[in-house]
Amino acid sequence: SFDVTLRYVPGIGAVNGGAALLSFVDVTDREQASQMRRDFVANVSHELRTPLTALMGFIETLRGPARDDAKARDRFLDIMEGEANRMNRLVGDLLSLNRVESEERVRPKEDVDLNGRLASTIKTLEPLAAAQGTVLELYVPEEGITVKGDPDQLQQVFTNLVENAIKYGGDKVELRLHASERDPAVRAAAARIQVIDNGPGIDPVHLPRLTERFYRADSHRSREMGGTGLGLAIVKHIVNRHRGRMRVESHVGKGSVFTVILPLC
Ligand code: ADP
Repeated sequence: SFDVTLRYVPGIGAVNGGAALLSFVDVTDREQASQMRRDFVANVSHELRTPLTALMGFIETLRGPARDDAKARDRFLDIMEGEANRMNRLVGDLLSLNRVESEERVRPKEDVDLNGRLASTIKTLEPLAAAQGTVLELYVPEEGITVKGDPDQLQQVFTNLVENAIKYGGDKVELRLHASERDPAVRAAAARIQVIDNGPGIDPVHLPRLTERFYRADSHRSREMGGTGLGLAIVKHIVNRHRGRMRVESHVGKGSVFTVILPLC
């Protein structure tokens, strides 16, 4: 296909004829891929360096001015623990992303009971919701819904979406499940999982880029809540691996709906 963005590549010069155009597009693609790799490495380095710089600063302070101040020492150690946890989460998410990406072409085959997975997602996140003053509500059909998939990865999808809804949302999060015999999004029998919040919503300019690595709509809030900026990128790869789709609808001032559609088999 030729609707790749054509950029000027030094050294190639004027393009005449089909063969030259093909090699032109090829070089452009390769250039884009290596540019993306460079951007990724730069982002990772920056994200790791920020907490690292803070840690180094506090070590200096503990060695010097705060040496004999027990109260200050305790406070600084708490902050240092927080920064170390942030680095740990980032490395954990990077490893998850790597694993998910490397498995993306292998279709998972286990039977996953969605009702059970959603119930345990809610249970795991109940303490976070309580701390934020958010009410979690689960709506599932009485008869269980099962998909072919990877149970841990699907649980990670639900956890990431509900965790975001708690972190960025309002005071209520609904988690809904239903199945249909023919879902237009995947043109097959499928389950739909929806995470609905009544928070501030997301400005439409951010929506197309939301699943990019390290992309944040509200950078300040993300960092304050300990976000790595990788949660939705991980979700996207897991959903792809399950041949599913993800949709985001959001109304500023009203809230957001994240929908995951998974083919039943
Ligand atoms: P993070 O670690 O920053 O949460 P994610 O990839 O999970 O990274 O999410 C990317 C960004 O999308 C977040 O930083 C946040 O700005 C935005 N976002 C995700 N979910 C919601 C939501 N339910 N309401 C508002 N903004 C959201």
